[in-house]
Amino acid sequence: MKILCIGQNYAKHNSEMKSETPAEPVFFMKPDTALLTEGKPFYYPDFSKEIHHEVELVLKISKNGKHIDPDLAKNYYEEIGVGIDFTARDLQSRCKEKGLPWEKAKAFDGSAPVGKFVSKKEFSDLTNLSFQLKLNNAIVQKGNTKDLLFSFDTIIAYLSTFITLRTGDLIFTGTPEGVGPVKIGDQLEAFIENKSLLRFDVK
Ligand code: MG
Repeated sequence: MKILCIGQNYAKHNSEMKSETPAEPVFFMKPDTALLTEGKPFYYPDFSKEIHHEVELVLKISKNGKHIDPDLAKNYYEEIGVGIDFTARDLQSRCKEKGLPWEKAKAFDGSAPVGKFVSKKEFSDLTNLSFQLKLNNAIVQKGNTKDLLFSFDTIIAYLSTFITLRTGDLIFTGTPEGVGPVKIGDQLEAFIENKSLLRFDVK
């Protein structure tokens, strides 16, 4: 499986990062070794001094597809979850300055914790879906899909023009504002609506 991630997909996050609003979706990838499941702890890597949390809704692809029509994209995922796109912000800033790829800052081991996936049918309106992240029990990020710059369907169609999507692939759909650092000893808990779907410690 592969992990595809959309960047710069919420306007207020782009403002906090001083990024421009993209004209088309921005994406990057994480390898399967980035995946962290079942509430396993995240071990703070020694190559960074500034690991940031980015809470994101995650789509699980349910059938293979290439050149997917936007109108049919909703048929390519049945389950939705929440994950953290951990980012070594110090390394990413250096990569951005030099115009280099971001993998070192985004694709490292354990950089993609994901929680339990639930049927999308559990939610009445996927275009008005709230999610949030608590850090040590205090809310640090809140998002809602009504603020997405590129919708789930647009993302799926766009990605599939370049890369074949396969059953089991994950798509991180972008983070809202409020990203910030984590440290050893922190506990993170992420929710869709009021459902707690992901909880783990930083060690
Ligand atoms: Mg992100």
